[in-house]
Amino acid sequence: MLAERARGQRIGFVPTMGFLHDGHTTLMKVAREACDLVAVSIFVNPKQFGPKEDLSRYPRDKEGDLRKCRDAGVSIVFMPEPEAFYPPLFETMVSVAKTSQGFCGAARPGHFDGVTTVVLKLFNLAQPHEAFFGEKDFQQLAVIRAMVRDLSLPITVTGVPTVREPDGLALSSRNVYLSSEERHDALVLRRALEAMKTGVESGERSAKAITELARAEIAGVERARVDYVEVADALTLAQRETIDGPTQALLAVFIGRTRLIDNLRIL
Ligand code: AMP
Repeated sequence: MLAERARGQRIGFVPTMGFLHDGHTTLMKVAREACDLVAVSIFVNPKQFGPKEDLSRYPRDKEGDLRKCRDAGVSIVFMPEPEAFYPPLFETMVSVAKTSQGFCGAARPGHFDGVTTVVLKLFNLAQPHEAFFGEKDFQQLAVIRAMVRDLSLPITVTGVPTVREPDGLALSSRNVYLSSEERHDALVLRRALEAMKTGVESGERSAKAITELARAEIAGVERARVDYVEVADALTLAQRETIDGPTQALLAVFIGRTRLIDNLRIL
């Protein structure tokens, strides 16, 4: 891709873990519009999975993924093998100290160090001008922005709004784990976020009271269990006690054994 860069082409990059859906292909299409050439990586990064997480059963579909990339106008797909990507001597980890705390960082220790390490290495390999990430993984986007800012990486980070099913469920590769009953239960994430937004719209400003609205909604679904429900400064992710500025609601909920995340701007 250095040759393309040298010819003055703008390189866009979309890192993914594959099992691509319309959320991923939307990132690719946004990248295609902003750049001359789009590169995608498909890599189920072992460093961002905890020992008890779903690394071994994470869904994969190489042929389907390649077809979707082609249809989305992607020029280059990078699919490394873990052993080649992380050779035995590999020992460097990248850590964003503050932004990766709390939320998913609390629930998944080490997860964001795995994310920043893989993303920085992928950035160095792809050398993009611009990289595209989904707002679905809101904390991840904030962590990547912090890394790019702190390490002076010459890359523009662009966030893309969450793509949802018509009934409001955020698209996720992990939705494939859900039984049909769980698929129905999973709508509680969206309902809980909407309840928080409605609460703020009707004048409630206490973060605790607002998150209680979501917890009550989730408590009404037998197979659902809260991992976290938080409201935070939409720009810095600093936790808020009073909702008095741009605010994002973020949550993670287990539906049966499947952990789903979602978020919504509520002020
Ligand atoms: P993943 O394959 O889950 O690591 O996701 C790769 C990229 O796609 C990340 O930047 C995600 O935030 C983004 N992404 C995943 N799901 C969605 C969605 N429903 N809408 C928009 N972007 C998404």
